Amino acid sequence: MTEKKCTKYESLFTFSSEEELKEHLDECEDCRREQEEMDKISELIQEVRPYYFQKRRNSINSFKVACVLFIGLFAGTLLGYFVQFPYVDSSSYTVSSTSSVSNVNEYGMALDNYGLITVN
Ligand SMILES: [Zn+2]
Repeated sequence: MTEKKCTKYESLFTFSSEEELKEHLDECEDCRREQEEMDKISELIQEVRPYYFQKRRNSINSFKVACVLFIGLFAGTLLGYFVQFPYVDSSSYTVSSTSSVSNVNEYGMALDNYGLITVN
């Protein structure tokens, strides 16, 4: 008589109640071995899990720090932009318009009403 390995464990584990599984484990050695394997794995998971959660929490914390830094930088830049923008804009506008006027004189070109260069 050839010994046939019981394959019920997985389905019992997945679909049956704990009592049913235990009852079967009492009379089936194959499934007891499977259960032991599962216990080893879940032990490993239990050992790994706190480390995993610790790591996860750390990465969340550093993500928060990165967010705060980013928001701080962004708000600072935005604030600087709004505070400085009118001043920078008016001065650079004056500079660029005077330089374009001198360019027109230098190359003998003129800008038409649409801002396109027309050569005489
Ligand atoms: Zn079994």
